[in-house]
Amino acid sequence: MPATKAYAAENATTPVVPFTIERRNPKPHDVQIEILYCGVCHSDLHFARNDWGMTVYPVVPGHEIVGRVTAVGGHVKKFKVGDLAGIGCLVDSCRECDNCKDGLEQYCSGGAVFSYNGNERDGSGNTYGGYSKSILAHEDFVLRISDKQPLEAIAPLLCAGITTYSPLRHWKVGKGTKVGVLGLGGLGHMAVKLAVAMGAEVTMLSHTAAKETDAKRLGAHKFVLTSNEEQIKSVTGYFDFILDTVSAEHDYNFYLALLRTNGVMVCVGVPPAPAVIPAFNLIFGRKSFAGSLIGGIPETQEMLDFCAEHNVVSDIELIRMDQINEAYERMIKGDVRYRFVIDMSSL
Ligand code: NAP
Ligand code: ZN
Ligand code: ZN
Repeated sequence: MPATKAYAAENATTPVVPFTIERRNPKPHDVQIEILYCGVCHSDLHFARNDWGMTVYPVVPGHEIVGRVTAVGGHVKKFKVGDLAGIGCLVDSCRECDNCKDGLEQYCSGGAVFSYNGNERDGSGNTYGGYSKSILAHEDFVLRISDKQPLEAIAPLLCAGITTYSPLRHWKVGKGTKVGVLGLGGLGHMAVKLAVAMGAEVTMLSHTAAKETDAKRLGAHKFVLTSNEEQIKSVTGYFDFILDTVSAEHDYNFYLALLRTNGVMVCVGVPPAPAVIPAFNLIFGRKSFAGSLIGGIPETQEMLDFCAEHNVVSDIELIRMDQINEAYERMIKGDVRYRFVIDMSSL
């Protein structure tokens, strides 16, 4: 059981600190990766601080993992030592339920195993994520990574990319769709890039005026400051599809009013507190309010290939491992341009 350097949160109130974990030796289908870069998702922060009341400590966050293969088990076919590889939010699932058979492992009815704070299916304990030197997973859960794009900017695709790509595809966003993206952070900036690459008309809905120039640079056709009444009026009843990426408490009803008849608002952001939505706000206009969780493995590979083809990567700020607590504080303030990525050589 090799000891592996990592960073962990040991409880909800103290900083994330250096920590040693034990990783298993590669099993016949395992791919072992030396982690070179790991993106910092707002979910990492929700888990470190137990915002959702489901954290098992110590937790080693990180599910936007890219690196190089350092060992493979005897049965591995997809990878060899030296290949680039990625691991996202999933490391295992039952493979037998309808969802798994449909490539929707994130909804596995036998229990998907998440990359951190997950329960290994063999009962060997909790999973530890990417704030560490290395990780292993069954080859079925390891993604192929392009060598044509900067590796550090690919890392955020493994969660922010797939979490926004999947609902855009499921609700068939494309040419002629009027899309509103709510919240310009890690997920939001990927949503803008991906929806634009899919041919949609994209409006950034942000509560931060200073992000307008960036939103346009990222490809948004319009920018609406959500506190500006005139600007909100101009998009009331306007959107076919709104992707809500906001991490903090906000009023869904305010944004449902921006949908046109038959419009769909999909929630990917997960504020800690529950929301109240009066039925009237959906009935008038036959509107839908839906949710979406990351994406399955086949779709994650499809998204990575789509991004390689359309030259889409994340806009990142590279940090050292010991800057993680500062990065969390900046994230809470909405001060992320637009994804922190940890350079794992600093660990
Ligand atoms: P992030 O980078 O911190 O971005 C969140 C954005 O929300 C901020 O940049 C800000 O954008 C907006 N915001 C923050 N506080 C706000 C407030 N009080 N009122 C209005 N807007 C506010 O976070 P992220 O990594 O993109 O993650 C976003 C959420 O998605 C988190 O809750 C995360 O856990 C969740 N998530 C879900 C899935 C899934 O599978 N469903 C996957 C990954 C992450 P503006 O400044 O532009 O308003
Ligand atoms: Zn994430
Ligand atoms: Zn399953």
